[in-house]
Amino acid sequence: MRIEVVRGGGSSARIDKEFMVKRCEVFVNEEFCKGCGICVHFCPRQAIVLSEDFNAKGVNVPIPAHIEKCTGCRLCELYCPDFAIAIREAE
Ligand code: SF4
Ligand code: SF4
Repeated sequence: MRIEVVRGGGSSARIDKEFMVKRCEVFVNEEFCKGCGICVHFCPRQAIVLSEDFNAKGVNVPIPAHIEKCTGCRLCELYCPDFAIAIREAE
């Protein structure tokens, strides 16, 4: 999530930009996932990649290889055509 903090007023207002990264967890429903990689393609932070290993169904499912980069934007959820991936903010 991007936060912009505006200090001062009028034309002299200064904008400090901070980038806050949420702690998130990725859940993949391996019954639904077909390994198409759309979620990986649309992740703007390269937080998820397709596994190099096949699961029991012969599918390379997405894994959170760089979960520390995840902003919780949920684009992966939005673009997954099979509702197979979900992002949750960690407690
Ligand atoms: S989670 Fe969805 S978008 Fe990602 S690889 Fe699986 S089916 Fe494709
Ligand atoms: S929530 Fe956003 S940043 Fe995190 S894995 Fe999904 S697309 Fe990538």
